[in-house]
Amino acid sequence: MSSPLRQRFRQALAREPARGNIARAMSGLVAKRRAAFPDPAALEALRDQGQAIRDQALDNLPDLLQELEAKCTANGIRVHWARAAEEANAQVLEIVRATGADAVLKGKSMVSEEIGLNAALAEAGIEALETDLGEWIIQLAGEAPSHIVAPAVHLDRREVAARFRAHFPDLDFGEDITDLTALARRLLRERFAQMRIGISGVNFLVAETGTLCLVENEGNGRLCTTLPEVHIAITGIEKVIARLDQLPPLLRLLTRGATGQPITTYVNLITGPRRADERDGPRDLHLILLDNGRARLQADPELRATLRCIRCGACMNHCPVYSRVGGHGYGTVYPGPLGAVLEPRLHGLALQGELAEASSLCGACAEVCPVRIPLPQLIRRVRLDRARIASSGRAQGRLWSLWASIQAHPARTRAFNRALALLSPLINPALRWLPSPWTRTREPPNLARQTLAELARQEGFRDD
Ligand code: SF4
Repeated sequence: MSSPLRQRFRQALAREPARGNIARAMSGLVAKRRAAFPDPAALEALRDQGQAIRDQALDNLPDLLQELEAKCTANGIRVHWARAAEEANAQVLEIVRATGADAVLKGKSMVSEEIGLNAALAEAGIEALETDLGEWIIQLAGEAPSHIVAPAVHLDRREVAARFRAHFPDLDFGEDITDLTALARRLLRERFAQMRIGISGVNFLVAETGTLCLVENEGNGRLCTTLPEVHIAITGIEKVIARLDQLPPLLRLLTRGATGQPITTYVNLITGPRRADERDGPRDLHLILLDNGRARLQADPELRATLRCIRCGACMNHCPVYSRVGGHGYGTVYPGPLGAVLEPRLHGLALQGELAEASSLCGACAEVCPVRIPLPQLIRRVRLDRARIASSGRAQGRLWSLWASIQAHPARTRAFNRALALLSPLINPALRWLPSPWTRTREPPNLARQTLAELARQEGFRDD
């Protein structure tokens, strides 16, 4: 039987022009990243630095989070802790309801996707207006983001124009990018100015100063954080770093790794709500720190590396699987190699562990990851953990115990190998008919008519 993941992959592979758009966009991003790091030695030195900063933060996570909370509170930021998605959504709803607003402005935030914030707001009768152009376009189409950096990367300008036409049939515009962007600006800016609550993600949290760092290209993030009276920032607890001087290397890695840009258009450093002598900024600033399984990852010495992630998307841009099926094929918030290691840890191996099979283990993701997350190793770990759970079940477990007991004794191993060699004329054709996806797409190995020990003896080697 075909699993939902396999069905989604099949559908994604058949979906044109999305497939072509994704492949073109990914090869463009790969080329831009390569051009952004022309000196391999300098890149490796920067990656060392990035990895060290993130490791230092993760090794001291509880202390840094306490320091962050104290500094943020002293700066006038109200800090909330959320163990899981429902708690984070409830906290956002409580803040929104307290203002009496029925709509919020939203900046791009993967954590808000992770917790299903838009759906929770909609259920409570609150409209969430996306301000990131890509997010807004897919919101119009009722779709989920297909990439963590470029949510509408599967659409070309004709499709964007078609979506706009479906929503705004009375307006006059062409298929030109400048035209479409100008239209979006005209439609959105006025509404932005009326909103009383802005919700954003955070790229990095600086414990030393209690600073929230947000990077973006469109200026929409800044609109979310300065225009409304209330700003709610939501992020995972792992985003904290120790010091302000650790930000520049991470920003260099993030923007060059993501889009090949030396730096984004806007880097926002927020250290509190509007002060008495300031003309803009929110009067009330909330920071929601989400765990949602991250503390569990931090406690595992191998899995902790997952939390180094700075969400640049380079692993998916370079992944041969992602670049063919795109994010929607995965059906998860975090797609690609990052999703294959993060999703099963956030939502359980039973629910998302199969994602680890959607990898060729070619290693491209680990080669480009700016903070050197050993993604193939972690994907193998997911596979291993799944196999352990499966083999603790009855039939497979008994089979592996039998295998172990044969392999533990030389005489039994010899007899077993001899029996396999003798039965090879019967076993080899049967292997081709195994009802397994593995054998459907691969040539199964043929068992030899003689065992290795017999061949070695023939060649004059002793088999002891
Ligand atoms: S795993 Fe590495 S390459 Fe992938 S998004 Fe995270 S930091 Fe970027």
